[in-house]
Formats: sequence, C-alpha cells, structure tokens
Amino acid sequence: MYRFTYHQPADLDEAVQIASSSEDGSYLAGGMTLIPTMKFRLAGPSDLIDLGAVEALRGITDEGGRLRIGAASTHAEVAASALVTGRLPALAGLASRIGDPAVRNRGTIGGSIANADPAADYPAALLALDAEVITNRRAIAAADFFTGFFSTALDPGELVTAIRFAVPAQAAYQKAPNPASRFALAGVFVARHADGTRVAVTGAGQFATRYPAFEAALDASFTPATAAGVTVEEAGLMTDLHASAAYRAHLISVMAKRAVAAC
Ligand SMILES: Cc1cc2nc3c(=O)[nH]c(=O)nc-3n(C[C@H](O)[C@H](O)[C@H](O)COP(=O)(O)OP(=O)(O)OC[C@H]3O[C@@H](n4cnc5c(N)ncnc54)[C@H](O)[C@@H]3O)c2cc1C
Repeated sequence: MYRFTYHQPADLDEAVQIASSSEDGSYLAGGMTLIPTMKFRLAGPSDLIDLGAVEALRGITDEGGRLRIGAASTHAEVAASALVTGRLPALAGLASRIGDPAVRNRGTIGGSIANADPAADYPAALLALDAEVITNRRAIAAADFFTGFFSTALDPGELVTAIRFAVPAQAAYQKAPNPASRFALAGVFVARHADGTRVAVTGAGQFATRYPAFEAALDASFTPATAAGVTVEEAGLMTDLHASAAYRAHLISVMAKRAVAAC
C-alpha cells in the first residue's frame, strides 16, 4: 500500500470539501473494492475520505412513490429493509445474493455503482427500474450513468448521495453467479412498468445495458417462452477465463426466461 492521509468527515459538506482540496482523494465506503485495490498498489489515493460517519448517506425511504436508498446503505440493509422487501422484493433479493455475508455487511450500494464493475448486480436493477442517481450536484438518469468498463458519468470529487428507484408492477432478477465471487457471469433484471417492460443485463458485456429486443418482444407477449425465443448476439459480449461470449449469450437467454417466469 502507498502512504495516504485518512479523514473521517462528519457531514456531506466536509466530505466534499476534503475531496476538492486533496491532491487525489478517494471516498471510502465499504472498502470491499478500494482497499484490496490499494493493497495491490493498483490505486494510490493521496487521501481516503471515509463516508462512514456521514448520516445524510444513510436511510431507506419512500419518496413520493419512489424508493430512495441512501448511498451508504449496505447490501445487507437493503436485503433486510421492510420497505424494500415490501415494495421491491426483486431488489431485496438481488442484494441478498451479492458476494458473501462479509461483503454484504460492508459493501454499499453507492460504492457498488460508483465502482461500476461490469459484473456487479445493482447496475442492471438501476437500468430496469428507471433509477436516478442523486449526487451532491445533480440527478443523473441511470441510462446516462454507466458509460463504459468501470466508468460512470461522475465527475472527479462528485459524491453519490442516494439512488431513487421507480416501483414497477412486477420485477425479478436472475443471475448465473461466478461460483467463487458470486459476481454475475450474466444477470438479467426484468421490470414491468405501466408504460412498458425494461430488461437490463449485467455481467456479460463491458458494462450493464438494456436489451431493447427483449423489451419489444415481452411488451407484445409477456411469457417465458417469448423471452427464450429472443436471439441474443454474441457480438460485444465478453470472453474471459470464466466464460466465453457464446456461453454468456446462452446464459442471458436462460436468465431472461427465468426472470419472466419469476415475475
Ligand atoms: C469477494 C467479493 C465478492 C463480491 N461479490 C459481488 C457480487 O456478487 N455482486 C456484486 O454486485 N458485487 C460484488 N462485490 C462488490 C461489493 O459488493 C461492493 O459493492 C463493491 O466492492 C464496492 O462497494 P464498497 O461500498 O465496498 O465501496 P468501496 O470499495 O469503498 O469504493 C469503491 C469505489 O467507489 C467510490 N465510492 C464509494 N462510495 C462512493 C460514493 N458515495 N460516491 C462516489 N464514489 C464512491 C470509492 O472512492 C471507490 O472508488 C464483491 C466484492 C468482493 C470483495
């Protein structure tokens, strides 16, 4: 690990102020990704700005019919929240299947989406649930938030404060997990909103994206057989030591079929 200065700001303004005055500061949430990355010397922030004491980043509330989840909510808190299990059980289920108990008790939703791992689960939920990412500066539609491999629309020093989710009539998430990490080899989130179906896929490509071909087909006929009948192209999907592009294309098809059945 390289040397760094540790800070524990008491509130949002102080956190943002430290970030803007530091040479190359990083926010620290659960540390599940950032700390190992620093240990491997793949990151060497000048300052670590621990968000653990910032109360404004906590809490899960109903905000005019949408669910607002504070950025520092852990995966375990999302999975156990009465509001999330009652209004958006698909999201609670997604959170409950992230990693292992240690990761779920430390890792946060804000850290997960800021990190934008191509195999992370939440990005698919954000896209299918028409979410908005709230930062200290603005609201960013999920469709504009994930911009590439481990990259987002966040500016340097911009802090995610919460995520606001629409609540659809029906939703389900299915993933084929990597047997070691539980990250998604392919994960499909299906949501039926009043104005149509959204289908978003994570784990298979460079970053999570919606799949319009599934959406059009399911808007015409919302059945597992319809989902299974949609052709998934291999082009653009990842091949790595875990799975080939062809296998991932097959998994998308199977997960989409299962998600529709689960709806
Ligand atoms: C063994 C293991 C298994 C895992 N399995 C899964 C899995 O199955 N599915 C899955 O989706 N994920 C998985 N993860 C990822 C994990 O769930 C965490 O969400 C992820 O590591 C980052 O969250 P964190 O809160 O720990 O963020 P940190 O590691 O603290 O931070 C990550 C990055 O986000 C930035 N950041 C943090 N919070 C904010 C904020 N509020 N605003 C702006 N930037 C911020 C940090 O500066 C840093 O760059 C796994 C991780 C591990 C170690």
